[in-house]
Amino acid sequence: MIKRKINIFGTTGSIGQSTLQVFRKNKGAYDFIVFSAFDNVDQLINDCIEFKPQYANIGNEKQFLKLKNALFDTDIILSCGRASLVDLACTKVDWSMSAIVGFSGVEVSLRCAEHSKILALANKEALVCAGKLLLSICKSNNTKLIPVDSEHSAIFQCLEGERRVDLRSITLTASGGPFRNWSLKRIRSATLEDALKHPNWSMGTRITIDSASMFNKSLELIEAMHLFELDFSDVEVIIHPQSIIHSMVNFNDGSTLAQLSLPDMRGSIGYSLNYPNRLNIGMENIDFAKIGSLEFYEPDKNKFRSLELVEKVGRNLDLGVIFNAAKEIALDRFISGEIAFLDMVDLVEKTLAESSLVNRIAHTPQNVSDILEINELTRVIAKKIEF
Ligand code: NDP
Ligand code: MG
Repeated sequence: MIKRKINIFGTTGSIGQSTLQVFRKNKGAYDFIVFSAFDNVDQLINDCIEFKPQYANIGNEKQFLKLKNALFDTDIILSCGRASLVDLACTKVDWSMSAIVGFSGVEVSLRCAEHSKILALANKEALVCAGKLLLSICKSNNTKLIPVDSEHSAIFQCLEGERRVDLRSITLTASGGPFRNWSLKRIRSATLEDALKHPNWSMGTRITIDSASMFNKSLELIEAMHLFELDFSDVEVIIHPQSIIHSMVNFNDGSTLAQLSLPDMRGSIGYSLNYPNRLNIGMENIDFAKIGSLEFYEPDKNKFRSLELVEKVGRNLDLGVIFNAAKEIALDRFISGEIAFLDMVDLVEKTLAESSLVNRIAHTPQNVSDILEINELTRVIAKKIEF
């Protein structure tokens, strides 16, 4: 039997670990090629011992010695730092999971799109910052992009076997996060600890805070526009606190198809791995009687202004890289305690209004170096915005 060759970028993260859980069901059927982490050397060591990839990369050079010492008696080829990481993303494989968080994962996603037969994309920032480029690379290399973000996986699944021309619009569901029922006044003084209490999903720190501010949903809106070639007005966001319906597709004949499953990322990871089949990945089906009811509400854009602000990007997708970089700096500054929760959206708004950036973007980002440069430029500006 020919084993499928597998890369997992961001192995030690929340998605990376859920991906390994899916593989644990049938480890012997795969050849693991590349694993990567940034700082969490202990987890990477454990994963390397268990799955025996051919290569392992750690971002933080201070952890490299520990990695080498722990794995000296294995055949795993070890490396450290960004240049080797990007090189490793050029390894020819059957399936790559791109699950490095944030802009740091964009270049890796682009390389995987060139060299993997299937790109399982969790790193939504790649689409937000470089959607046109990523999709054109996939097209020219005949790479199948399968979204892992649960909403986009749901839409992808609902569109299987359908004609694209029959699609009218999509409805992205959002749990509403921990502040769904908080007043604006109370959100004003929300702490990091409050923002980290996601009601339904267990995820990495950054996406959890982005879910509380609904910046995550704003990124997902742009992600959906790229993936499914939609206009801004074709994508609606609805609050669905139970996180059971992961998103819906509305067709011209008035029908809506939805994908439902328990809120567990193994579902969309397994789908991207086994596509077009649906193999047992150890997940239960929904017990509807237990859930009782499913609710839906309009999002409150006064409380979650990122949903309003994203329209600017939705009308000009080239602004995605600026939007994301400003949001990442805002998040860093909130995590470090420098700015308040609601300052994050103000910071992004002010950065988007910077004429130097908007003028720079007028020359549409076409290649990786343009995107890297605009990202850097935005970060410098966003760091200087005062409150
Ligand atoms: P985590 O923070 O849990 O994990 C991030 C991974 O990326 C870790 O392996 C981390 O290494 C690595 N990493 C971080 N910074 C760098 C860097 N500069 N260079 C190289 N590697 C780095 O994130 P998540 O798993 O939550 O999210 C990953 C991606 O998936 C994000 O784009 C997120 O938006 C998306 N996503 C996540 C969902 C979820 O449920 N978690 C749902 C939908 C999408 P280390 O552990 O060593 O720090
Ligand atoms: Mg999502």
